[in-house]
Amino acid sequence: MEADEPKHCAWCGRRLPGSGRIGRPRRYCAQPCRQRAYERRAALQRGGLPEDAVVLSTSELADLQDRLFQLRCAAEDVVTAAQDGAENEELRKLAAELVESAKGLERLR
Ligand SMILES: [Zn+2]
Repeated sequence: MEADEPKHCAWCGRRLPGSGRIGRPRRYCAQPCRQRAYERRAALQRGGLPEDAVVLSTSELADLQDRLFQLRCAAEDVVTAAQDGAENEELRKLAAELVESAKGLERLR
């Protein structure tokens, strides 16, 4: 994989599989993402915003904030458990949940 190859879909933020292909690296995980990015870009240009502006709808932002809140709660659970002298096994389980929460944040939309 090229070092500068994008790792996340430029529209939805899902992790891209390594392309292993020759030529331009893919920027989107699927055709609908490519299409929606194109439409958003055209709308942004009509509105005079820079082409690389990232615009989220109110519901997309609310969803992102919900997932950020879940991540914080999962992190706080680890801290609380550690302060309470939790066993390694429980800490390991909580840390795994934290990782799952963080994975959910790679998706933007
Ligand atoms: Zn995508």
